[in-house]
Amino acid sequence: MIKKPFFGFGKPKLDYAGIEGLEQGEVTDIPLSGRAVFFVEAPHPTVNDVSLQVGDEINTGQNLQVSPFSKATFTSMVTGSVIDISKTSGYLGKQYLSVGIDVSEEDQWDDAFSEAVQSPDLEKADRYLGGLPGISNINALIHPETPLETIVVNGMDKDLLVTTQQMVVKSQADDLKEGIEFLKKLPGNPKVILVVPPHLSAEAAKSEAQVQTVTPSYPNSLPEMIMKDVLHQVVPAGMDCSSLGVGFIDAEGVVALKSAFSEGKPPVTKMVSIIGKNEKTQVIRVRLGTPVNAVLDALDIPLEQGDRLVMGGPMTGRSIYSGEMPVLQDTDAIMIQGKDQLALNEDVPCVNCGECIRACPVNIPVNMLVRLLEFSQYEEAANDYDLLSCIECGLCSYVCESKIPVFHYIMLGKYELSLIKEAEESANG
Ligand code: SF4
Ligand code: SF4
Repeated sequence: MIKKPFFGFGKPKLDYAGIEGLEQGEVTDIPLSGRAVFFVEAPHPTVNDVSLQVGDEINTGQNLQVSPFSKATFTSMVTGSVIDISKTSGYLGKQYLSVGIDVSEEDQWDDAFSEAVQSPDLEKADRYLGGLPGISNINALIHPETPLETIVVNGMDKDLLVTTQQMVVKSQADDLKEGIEFLKKLPGNPKVILVVPPHLSAEAAKSEAQVQTVTPSYPNSLPEMIMKDVLHQVVPAGMDCSSLGVGFIDAEGVVALKSAFSEGKPPVTKMVSIIGKNEKTQVIRVRLGTPVNAVLDALDIPLEQGDRLVMGGPMTGRSIYSGEMPVLQDTDAIMIQGKDQLALNEDVPCVNCGECIRACPVNIPVNMLVRLLEFSQYEEAANDYDLLSCIECGLCSYVCESKIPVFHYIMLGKYELSLIKEAEESANG
C-alpha cells in the first residue's frame, strides 16, 4: 500500500500493488479496434527498400520480412490490409518502421506460424516466438551466451501500481504449468524457478515448479535483485543475467509459449494494467497493436489538455507523445497522469543531500555520477562511478531533493556508451 500520492516527491513506503481479492472476471476485455499498428526495429533507410506495400493483405500470425535488405520481421497479430508504412522514432531515438493496418473483424490464421513453432528447429521458431506477448527477448533463452542452468519465471510486476504478471499467475495457473514444462525441455534442461509475492504462493504451487516468494517491496522484482536475493549471485557491471547462466521470462511470456506450442496459434492479446489519475489500477486484455487512444475510448477514460500518457509504471515508465502509440508485446501498463500530478524536473544544482545514495539499491555514488553525466562525461561515469552497475530502478530520481532528472541522465549515459562501444567495434573491424 503506498502511503502518499505517488506523483509527488518524497519518500513513500514503496510496496508493490497486490491483487488480493481480485477475481479472474475483473480483467476487462477491450473490443478489437479498427486500426492496429506494429513497430519493426529497422534503421530508417530500409523504409526506402520495403517489400511490404500499402494495400497488401496480411493474416493473423503471419511473419513478414519488411525488406529484402534487412532481417527485421514482425508477426501480425491481426488480419487486415496495410494502410500505412512510415518511419518513426522511439526511446532514445531508436528507429522503427511503423506498419498501420485496417483491421478485419474476422481473423484469418496463417498456417506458417503453426509449422514454424512446431518445428524442432528452434532457430526457425524464434522469429515467430519473439513477437509474443510478455516475451521481450526470446534470444536470451534460446541462444544464451552460456548454457542456461536456471530460468526464472517472474510472476512479480516490475513497477509499482502494476498488477499484470500477478494477474497471469492468479488467473492462468494451468497454462503457466504447461508453459513451464516446455521451459524445462529447453537445451540443457534448465531448472525453473517461479518467483511470486507471498499472497500468490498457493496459485504458484499449482505450477509444480520450484516456487520462491519475494518481499513485495520495490525494487525486489527487478532481475538483478532476484539474482541477489533468490539466487545469491551478483550480476557484474555491464553484464546481464544470461552471462551467469540464468534466463528470465515473465509469467505472461510462459503462458504465450504454451499457447503457441499447444495450439499452433499466436496468443494475440496482452494483459495490461491501466493506472488512472486516481492511482487505481484495472487490468485489461487487449489485442496487440491496438492504439492507446482506442483502449482509453473503450474504457471511457477522457484525456484533458496537459495530461501525460506513460507506457509503464511510475518508476520506470516512459511518456509517449501520441495516443496512436500501440500496445506492444512488453507493454505491461499504461498510466494516465493529470497535469496537476506531474512532478516536473527543475534546473537546480545538486545540493548533496545524499538521498539518492541512501535510496540506491546497488550503492552507486549517484551524486557524483550525475555530475559527470550532466557534462556528457560518459566513459568517466562508467569507469569512476559505476554507471554500468545501475539496475535502472529510478529510485534516485524519485527521491532527488533538487528534482534533477537523474534517471534520464543515467539512461542517456548508458545509451551514449553503447554508441561509443559500437563505433569502436566497427572501427576495429
Ligand atoms: S536508477 Fe538510480 S537508484 Fe536505481 S540503481 Fe540506478 S543509480 Fe541506483
Ligand atoms: S538526491 Fe539529488 S540533490 Fe540530493 S545528492 Fe542526490 S542528486 Fe544531489
